[in-house]
Amino acid sequence: MKGYRDCELRINLKEKSIEKKALNSEYIEKYMGGEGYGIALLWDEMPHKIDPFDDRNLLSFNTGPLTGTPAPSASRTSVVFISPLTGTIGASNMGSHWGAELKFAGYDSIVLEEASKEPVYILIEEDQVSIHDAKELWGLDTRKTTEELIKIHGENHKVVCIGPSGEKQNKLAAIFSDDCFAGRGGAGAVMGQKKLKAIVVRGNGSVEVADPEGFMKMQKKAIQELRSEEYTWGPVHGYGTPTWLDGSNDCGLLPVDNFKRNHTDKLDPILPSELWNNREKFDVKRRTCYACQLGCHKFVMMGDVEVGELEYETIAAFGPRCGVYNYKDISMANYYASIYGIDTISAGATVSAAMEWYEKGILTKDDLDGLDLKFGNGEAMVELIRKMCLREGCGELFADGSYWAGERIGEKAKPYVMTVKKMEISACDPRGAASMAISFGTSERGACHMRPYSATIDAFGYLFPDLGIEEAKDPFSETESKVWLKALKEYFVVTNLIGLCDFNVINMEIQPSTMAELYVKTTGIPCDKAELLRKAERTIALERALNYERGFRRKDDHLPKRFMKEPAFGGPAKGRTIDMDAALDKYYEACHYDKETAIPTKEKFEELGMENVAATIYQ
Ligand code: SF4
Repeated sequence: MKGYRDCELRINLKEKSIEKKALNSEYIEKYMGGEGYGIALLWDEMPHKIDPFDDRNLLSFNTGPLTGTPAPSASRTSVVFISPLTGTIGASNMGSHWGAELKFAGYDSIVLEEASKEPVYILIEEDQVSIHDAKELWGLDTRKTTEELIKIHGENHKVVCIGPSGEKQNKLAAIFSDDCFAGRGGAGAVMGQKKLKAIVVRGNGSVEVADPEGFMKMQKKAIQELRSEEYTWGPVHGYGTPTWLDGSNDCGLLPVDNFKRNHTDKLDPILPSELWNNREKFDVKRRTCYACQLGCHKFVMMGDVEVGELEYETIAAFGPRCGVYNYKDISMANYYASIYGIDTISAGATVSAAMEWYEKGILTKDDLDGLDLKFGNGEAMVELIRKMCLREGCGELFADGSYWAGERIGEKAKPYVMTVKKMEISACDPRGAASMAISFGTSERGACHMRPYSATIDAFGYLFPDLGIEEAKDPFSETESKVWLKALKEYFVVTNLIGLCDFNVINMEIQPSTMAELYVKTTGIPCDKAELLRKAERTIALERALNYERGFRRKDDHLPKRFMKEPAFGGPAKGRTIDMDAALDKYYEACHYDKETAIPTKEKFEELGMENVAATIYQ
């Protein structure tokens, strides 16, 4: 079995025991790797109903079979856990060079059991795995932590770590690696609960592929497909994801002022040209994750401040969503989120909810340490982000995100919380793309724009014949068949199983049949496009089953009422609201889900070869 290193590293942080095991071959066969592998571990080994901050919450870092190969963007690691933010499965995917290094060191997955009493970090150097005291590192920000560890162990070592937000178990806390984040769902808080500050890796090996010649052919084909997509290889390659701002605004998808509006005429000062053509204020450098051709990352310096990566979601969250239209404040908010280590999407969304509470008089300056938190006050936004990260003063109220802040404030705050399953909706107004209402609503980890980013199809008009999407879809129809959406979601999940970045499929670049061939040439395991999607379908089914065990049902797949009651403000979607029940019915039909319980029917589980799961759920 090539591609895989066939080794799972088990570390019990309480016992300080270290064990190396062969990968679970059944998991590989059914779920391939990455996110699927981690979810299977949760299902089989963890009591299903535990609190996310229970020591028994399993935190795993899972690469895919392609991670560490030269395939385009083969950099990815899926961090899997039960989310303290949502209570659902947590699956957060990150790039950087860390995952590839883990493979070079000889491991596919790290599984972390129990919790340490004292701060520790893990050092992996090939065969040598050790646990070290991290008292001196506790309290350091993400960049300082990385610097210190590199200083101690050498510059070829790769680091993942948490900042003070993770240590303080802030439910928005992220895991950091070279300014890439496993951002969503509070993975950093679980790492903080386990008192694990960092994992440092160095490997000298490589990832062997089963058919080197065939692999190179397919790798070339994948790169060609990527480069022949004009928008991807033009503006996105050149300027990064901020280039999406304009199109998103034109299609009425951009969240403005906590989703009160979906379009703005104030965008000019934050278009990417402002960053790239303003050299006296900003210096933008290209950075890429391991083996990435696309290189969406643009690392921004503002004078002496290392702002970090500014990408579409971050700019939208700290920008229009909070009514802020200048890069100085957006950059500073991103800087604090990066060094202290929280998810920028949820952080910006939480401030925008707080701004609406302030506008409505639900919160006053007295509740906000004197901050004048009106929409558009960038300086107040930056200060609140800093306080949230550190749980300082009024930041304590918001440190766990808008849902939990709303719960603490009370009933009158709740209508302005823009979350699904307690996770903040990212920067796409679903009134402008009917499919996104379903993507956000049914995402197993809470509102997620990548499960799948389907607005490309119904709002932007892309087709994807290799996935069976041969005709344009209506962005305003909840009642059209959503069989295409099921296939697209599975394909996005495939990237999380195989170890590639989903920005390589977001504009329909790498074709599913090419992806299947890449898998075959890498692993030597027979697989076609249909089986590739089936592995993702099983992963999604298992995630739904685990969420079901944890009490999630159809009602949890709904969007906030704002999208059903308040007509869209502008763009092509102007005047539109969403019929969520019609949308869910169509999607559940496409997936063979029971319409009440929102999980696969017994027959569907059995068809997927998941009889044991069906037996647990339908006993
Ligand atoms: S497209 Fe961007 S996020 Fe994805 S692997 Fe490349 S640099 Fe990293």
